[in-house]
Amino acid sequence: MDRPADGVTLLAVSKTFPAADVREAFQAGQHSFGENYVQEAVDKMAELADLRPQIEWHLIGPLQSNKTRVVAENFDWVHTVDRLKIAQRLSDQRPTHLPPLQVCVQVNTSGEASKSGVEPAEALALAQAVAQLPHLHLRGVMALPAPSTDAFTQHQALKKIREVFDELRDHGLTLDTLSMGMSTDLEMAVEQGSTMVRIGSAIFGQR
Ligand SMILES: *Cc1c(COP(=O)(O)O)cnc(C)c1O
Repeated sequence: MDRPADGVTLLAVSKTFPAADVREAFQAGQHSFGENYVQEAVDKMAELADLRPQIEWHLIGPLQSNKTRVVAENFDWVHTVDRLKIAQRLSDQRPTHLPPLQVCVQVNTSGEASKSGVEPAEALALAQAVAQLPHLHLRGVMALPAPSTDAFTQHQALKKIREVFDELRDHGLTLDTLSMGMSTDLEMAVEQGSTMVRIGSAIFGQR
């Protein structure tokens, strides 16, 4: 596996938890936080403005086009780019005094079970188009496989995501981020090549 042993980043998913919990985790050394809801995240960012620029905010929830401006202006990363139109808006609206917005293309490998994410067969075309946008930096692939209690099914789902990531790299895209794995499947996700696990309840407690 072409990944250094320390190559897995922990993204602490703080949705529904108050800013005070984020501050506590930050003080314990955790600097990257994932949020699902734009307004909730922006409110926390305002409360934690003193932690910038060390704190890093990642949007991991669905993004509608009427929210792209506030996202482009406030987040460091967006994991859920699944349409070119959203990517174009994010690039156009990214303030030029900020570094490029770091993005992942969200891939839907669960078929009917999820409405978010581009179909695997369309992932390459979307990724190639996103990679051209001036104020975005395409970092990789994100997926949210339908949870399964069956280890084999879960393993197959993670493997499929990894294959999409490999396919994009085989086509010459420079990608360093495979965002997959949550509290319940993190070991298996890392085994399958994840470079960024998104962990909520195992850090902050039950929501
Ligand atoms: C909530 C959420 C997580 C974290 O889930 P846990 O089960 O609490 O670890 C990870 N990724 C996404 C996209 C989420 O919405």
